[in-house]
Amino acid sequence: MNTSKGLAFILKTRPFKEKDYLVTFFSLEHGIFNSIACGVKGSTKGWCGNFLLFSKIKFERNIPKSDQSLTKITGAEVQRSFEFKSVESFTLASFCAEVAMKLMQEGQEMDRIFQLMEESFCCLEKDTNLSNFHIVFLLKFLTRMGFLPDFSMCTKCGNKFSEDTRISWEDVGDILCSHCSGTRFGNLSFLDIKVLFFWQYAPIDKCLQVSVDKVFKDKAFEFLSDELCKHMNGKLKTASMLNF
Ligand SMILES: [Zn+2]
Repeated sequence: MNTSKGLAFILKTRPFKEKDYLVTFFSLEHGIFNSIACGVKGSTKGWCGNFLLFSKIKFERNIPKSDQSLTKITGAEVQRSFEFKSVESFTLASFCAEVAMKLMQEGQEMDRIFQLMEESFCCLEKDTNLSNFHIVFLLKFLTRMGFLPDFSMCTKCGNKFSEDTRISWEDVGDILCSHCSGTRFGNLSFLDIKVLFFWQYAPIDKCLQVSVDKVFKDKAFEFLSDELCKHMNGKLKTASMLNF
């Protein structure tokens, strides 16, 4: 039997037939895929403990015969499991997983998103300063997917923003200077744009230490949700659990 191997996060598990689980993986080498883990339902023996939600595993699976048939997992070894101490951090991890499952295509390989998942789960495990986490994650995710421009300059004319530039958000995901813009979505101060630019590229734990006011947070999340909706169908279930 031909098999393929790789590293993956477990994003979702649900019962399948009598004794199996259908597991959604996000792997470094093959992107998002579903696969069956046989004989693990209702058992804690053997390899069953290797399918904990959000853990990072080394997997081996058989190669599907046609595009339609589901693969079976033939080997699983835990590389790292994450322990989330609060409901908030667990729900935020589910939020990360749901965004990835909604926005990434099957088979789409993306190591920079894989790294973002790992960094995110590490921060959530520490469980400190999580009040801006969802915004920082979404901003980084959309940037790394290529859906958002670099926030240091005007998307249209390319001029770098400075203290005296008036900046506005547009409904097409652009950040524009006053010469190029309408003001469809709202205005930003130079300080706002500096925070967003920092959040795009700095390590997540550093991003979470920046404190911002509620008006800015609401505005930023609305803008990012708007951008997110353009690239996916339906609504995020976890968003309502987090009261966004
Ligand atoms: Zn401009």
